[in-house]
Amino acid sequence: MSGLDLLTPDHRRLFIGGTWREANSGATFAVRDPADQSVITEVADGDVNDAVDALDAAVAVQDEWGRTPPRERGEILRRSFELITQRADDFAELMSLEMGKTVKEAKGEVAYGAEFFRWFSEEAVRIHGRWMQNPAGGSRLLTIRKPVGPCLFITPWNFPLAMGTRKIGPAIAAGCTMIVKPAELTPLTMLALAATLEEAGLPAGVLNIVTTSDSKSLSKALMADDRLRKVSFTGSTTVGKVIIRQSADELQRVSMELGGNAPFIVFEDADVDAAVEGAMIAKMRNMGEACTAANRFLVHDSVAAEFADKLGARMGALVVGRGQDDGVDVGPLIDQNAVDSVSQLVTDAVHDGARLVVGGKPGEGPGFFYPPTVLVDVPSESEIVRQEIFGPVAAVTTFADEDEAITRANDTEYGLASYVYTRDLSRTIRVAERLQFGMVGINSGLISNAAAPFGGVKASGFGREGSFEGIDEYLDTTYVALPAG
Ligand code: NAD
Repeated sequence: MSGLDLLTPDHRRLFIGGTWREANSGATFAVRDPADQSVITEVADGDVNDAVDALDAAVAVQDEWGRTPPRERGEILRRSFELITQRADDFAELMSLEMGKTVKEAKGEVAYGAEFFRWFSEEAVRIHGRWMQNPAGGSRLLTIRKPVGPCLFITPWNFPLAMGTRKIGPAIAAGCTMIVKPAELTPLTMLALAATLEEAGLPAGVLNIVTTSDSKSLSKALMADDRLRKVSFTGSTTVGKVIIRQSADELQRVSMELGGNAPFIVFEDADVDAAVEGAMIAKMRNMGEACTAANRFLVHDSVAAEFADKLGARMGALVVGRGQDDGVDVGPLIDQNAVDSVSQLVTDAVHDGARLVVGGKPGEGPGFFYPPTVLVDVPSESEIVRQEIFGPVAAVTTFADEDEAITRANDTEYGLASYVYTRDLSRTIRVAERLQFGMVGINSGLISNAAAPFGGVKASGFGREGSFEGIDEYLDTTYVALPAG
């Protein structure tokens, strides 16, 4: 078996109410390989009617699903975790094909993504309320936690599996039903995931998948329906704001995992080699197409030259190519827009006075390749340090003292991930307390973990995925006032 074999022709269709079927209109759209633009396969192009069918299916089983024993829900997640893990190589190959990342990296995402199912299989049986005495005496207070109800999940193309499992895992554990709308550029991994959950025994209607080329109309129609109670969105801040506005009419609960502009701070007392190692991970994971990607390298004046030289050498040695080929470190970007946007940011930075250490010139088509690139002396007002780069480009700037580093790090509308390299414990605590970010990595370029509360502040959104907090997004609280007896 290989990647695409995970999907029978049946599985390239919509999954609604436990049935794999064509779109009502019969329409399909092509999924392309970003390494050469060839068509991998066609999938069903669902429209608003299909989306309403999916909501009908989710609503029909919500009550019964919410009352299943938690252990039963947990076991389905656990079985799915085992199945994904057994088929990790195939999942990785499929993901690499549609998204571009190397198979090795895709395996990392499969392990990370599956872990949310294991974690939430364990959380399903730990949903509990409270019992307390009224402080004034007399009555008693009881709280009951209930599934929030049918959910809509909208996911991005950059982590086709993990951005889904971070939502589906806790929703299943909490007893919610759901409709998932994967990114149109990478729907295949999500379809393979749905087939796996079906095999693991997930009852019909709990999970419904609608692939579409018209996400906007679908989300609008579904969110205008008061039966939908929750929307969890991962994607750009611009679209996130549209979704939040749409949620106002029917007051759906919303969780928002949005864009980032992560600072990567290297203090003068840091182990520079370790910082370069961490920088390679924080920058190059997913070819830089990660919301947690280090976007601005803030390096103390005294170690900036050493850091930039070493980073340039490491970045320049990476092999760019097709993600499924042996020996390749860096796959293609997702599409031409991505290449154009990264190229523009680099060109503008050079125009602003930055200097190229390595890279800087897009590859030849038809694939969407851009080489690992390092820029130094980047002015702090340059667009490349203000915007999410979403590509394999490291922009290095310098600072003189701790206050300046923190002020500059916080000088962004975003607040998702941040990274700090220092060997001073007091500084670690001071800096972590002052950074306005949802996540701070200390001497580490990799912070994602199913047990960690993942999420941002400011324009990076709100709500947390993973950890103990993750399931709260899918539970409502009912308080019951009781007499003292
Ligand atoms: P995007 O916002 O363009 O698309 C995300 C999803 O929204 C896709 O499924 C898309 O089809 C859908 N969509 C687009 N317009 C829509 C509309 N008007 N109404 C409803 N749905 C719509 O983002 P993208 O380019 O797919 O992903 C990259 C962005 O995602 C980056 O900004 C990145 O930082 C962010 N991201 C954040 C996290 C996080 O956890 N915070 C994780 C991964 C990616």
